[in-house]
Amino acid sequence: MSPFRIPLSSVTLDDASLAHARDAIDARWLSGTGPHVARFEASLARQVGRRHAVAVTNGTHALELALRTWGIGPGDEVIVPALTFVAPAAAVHAVGATAVFADVDPATWTIDPHDVAHRITARTRAAIAVDVLGHPFDHDALRAAVRRTGIRLLEDAAEAHGARSRGNPAGSLGDAAIFSFHANKTITTGEGGAVVTDDDAVAAGLRLRASHGMTVERPYWHEVTGSNYRLSNVAAAIGLGQLAQWDALVAARNAVAAAYDRALADVFATTPLRRRPIAAWADEACWLYTVAHPRRDHLVAALRAAGIDARAIWTALPDLPPYRGGVRGEYAVARRLAREAFWLPTWTGMPPDVVAEVTGVLRHAVHAS
Ligand SMILES: *Cc1c(COP(=O)(O)O)cnc(C)c1O
Repeated sequence: MSPFRIPLSSVTLDDASLAHARDAIDARWLSGTGPHVARFEASLARQVGRRHAVAVTNGTHALELALRTWGIGPGDEVIVPALTFVAPAAAVHAVGATAVFADVDPATWTIDPHDVAHRITARTRAAIAVDVLGHPFDHDALRAAVRRTGIRLLEDAAEAHGARSRGNPAGSLGDAAIFSFHANKTITTGEGGAVVTDDDAVAAGLRLRASHGMTVERPYWHEVTGSNYRLSNVAAAIGLGQLAQWDALVAARNAVAAAYDRALADVFATTPLRRRPIAAWADEACWLYTVAHPRRDHLVAALRAAGIDARAIWTALPDLPPYRGGVRGEYAVARRLAREAFWLPTWTGMPPDVVAEVTGVLRHAVHAS
């Protein structure tokens, strides 16, 4: 339970998800080799228009597994946006490579393709492009920026279920993409993740490494090293119910964002408070409603004092001690957003009167600041 009267997020579990979980439990099929996992994977692949989906334990492991399967390891560099949840940088370090940061674009808050081009060296093997807070990265510009380098693009769509870039769904961009199904994400299995790709050989490699590098055909023969990244059958069963409601769950969060937009329109027009921008070519799938203001800490404190769990956004990754080795520039945009941006409570089915209460406190604090 959140100690706040109004939490940052809250889980709604539908009857279909509960019924699928019940089926899996009744059948006593709990482990990651169960039938719900295969159905979950097929359903996810169809949803985002990919040939393959491999379900895994969580989104961080999905990133790690994709990097390992591409053969990325010690001595390699992977470019990561300077403003995101830490998982992409952590996954790069987990495989023994170095996360090198690129700044983000002020127009999208996602990785800046021009800055990526400047960070590429002979050691660069891939870039992880995050669809930050439900806004897709600029795939066309990033692809153009790396075209002649041969580096791979890994889309991190952990926060972007249902977003679109020039009509293409988040998860369909890049050479492979990952999702998280953590409980606070738009589509959830409690803990969970997946890698999606169109590449048959990569998909086979992902599957192999997700299960100790062992095939069903030859038990206890391990052709490559792997680990156990399997998602449990019960978690996949919950996910099956969630996937069936994909559009409704995405629309419900976007409806909360639209309510915030309406309630704050005049504040945006007349004060320094601003909404996270949306590019003309993008369809946002709002994960957490995010705004920015030069006096961010003061506003967050006022909201929290009123029992509302508003939160400052992440620290810019170049400022975190374990990742200083990947610092290559000033990261002016990421650092400014890290100082000014903050989240307002957002969840599926959040009632209009709660939006009104949050925006009422925020409006008062902005005018008093
Ligand atoms: C949540 C998240 C992840 C990691 O997902 P987990 O399932 O929590 O491991 C990765 N990348 C981004 C951008 C995220 O927000």
